[in-house]
Amino acid sequence: MSYQNFSLKQLQEIDAGHHLHPFTDHKELRAVGSRMIVRADGPYIYDSEGNEILDGMAGLWCVNAGYGRTELAEAAYEQMKELPYYNSFFKCSTPTPVLLSKKLAEIAPANMNQVFYGSSGSEANDTALRVVRRYWALEGKPRKNRIISRKMAYHGSTIAGASLGGMSHMHEQLGGAVPNIVHVMPPYSFELAEPGESEHDFGIRAARAVEDAILEAGAENVAAFIGEPIMGAGGVKIPPESYWPEIQRICRKYDVLLMLDEVITGYGRTGEWFAAQAMGIEADTITTAKALTSGYQPLSALFIGDRIARTLIDKGGEFFHGYTYSGHPVACAVALKNLEIIEREGLVDRVRSDTGPYFRKTLMERLSGHPIVGQVRTVGLLGAIEIVADKETRERFQPSGSAAVKVRDHAIAQGLMMRATDDTMILSPPLIWTRETIDIAAARIERALDLAAADLGRM
Ligand code: PMP
Repeated sequence: MSYQNFSLKQLQEIDAGHHLHPFTDHKELRAVGSRMIVRADGPYIYDSEGNEILDGMAGLWCVNAGYGRTELAEAAYEQMKELPYYNSFFKCSTPTPVLLSKKLAEIAPANMNQVFYGSSGSEANDTALRVVRRYWALEGKPRKNRIISRKMAYHGSTIAGASLGGMSHMHEQLGGAVPNIVHVMPPYSFELAEPGESEHDFGIRAARAVEDAILEAGAENVAAFIGEPIMGAGGVKIPPESYWPEIQRICRKYDVLLMLDEVITGYGRTGEWFAAQAMGIEADTITTAKALTSGYQPLSALFIGDRIARTLIDKGGEFFHGYTYSGHPVACAVALKNLEIIEREGLVDRVRSDTGPYFRKTLMERLSGHPIVGQVRTVGLLGAIEIVADKETRERFQPSGSAAVKVRDHAIAQGLMMRATDDTMILSPPLIWTRETIDIAAARIERALDLAAADLGRM
């Protein structure tokens, strides 16, 4: 059945009649109707009304190889014809997850040699939580099970994912979080640094909040610290350079495991395969998903470091955990082809040495002087723009978040998909963006900022 037989209005009515969307005010959506994205090619998405929109978010931070990759469709088709599905339970395997695991071990940090597959980042973080707690239980320390996370963190939307995350509005709707997870301050200097406090000092202070939480619980009760190298959904919060080395020192000192969530930063976004490599972080687990397949298939891979893996394998007996789609052969075939494309086209190197620096320079030069912009920050092809009412005091427009939504709506109308989180505009484009694409995006953002500023009476 082709959607082309339906008008936009008909599709919207059916959508409203039967489809509850994720992270959506359902009543509000029913009042306006969904925008129907119907196809995509390269860096562009197209809606049912024929509008061409440059996708500044790579879907949901995932389409790193860009749209329209027939090679990925062919990889899926070939695998589906040969073996659409078989499980990895009961001493069985299929070839594509085997080969993908080898490839992943090659590109990951040296101590990451085992992967556990799921279909989403949330599932992978659920696995990560089980694995670290199980590790300590197997090591004879079952009480060492507290997890330290950060406020504003996003680790997924299952009960474990939302409990690990630090979004208070999500906690309110949980109806009971996974116990023994605490949240400390995030390394978000733009709002949390004291007047006159240097970036370096703020980074150390934010990391010491983790140490305080360890001391409060007693190190013998703390299993792990979990963090996104760069907080993504919480607003692309890039920590000061002093933050992660201090976190690493603290974790080592108290023998607290370090869990990295690279669901957004993995697979080239920062200009290395993983942010762990870009930022010199040595982790015990690394959660990945999204760009592993460039979003063409749902797939997550949790890397489990040698220290934990040895215990799980040697002492663990049967691990009562896994998903029907763990190591799905089609998803893994697509992942293998996706990594091959990223490698063949040198997309990671390009972000590191060319487009990443150009993205930073262009956004800084063109946007940071704008009257409603308080800060521009980037790493690789990940960017954030803080919207403020007053550049000096960093006072925000009221009500909170309303100005950023105006910028976003103008950006989309100008032909650029970007996202607003509170008062922060976010960009996470496909890694295929060129200097020319960056120029086009910057011009559209500039125009959207001007229009929003005019709406807000600032221009
Ligand atoms: N961790 C991080 C850092 C994420 O950004 C996300 C999704 N945005 C998740 C976990 C959850 O992934 P999923 O939506 O695939 O469950």
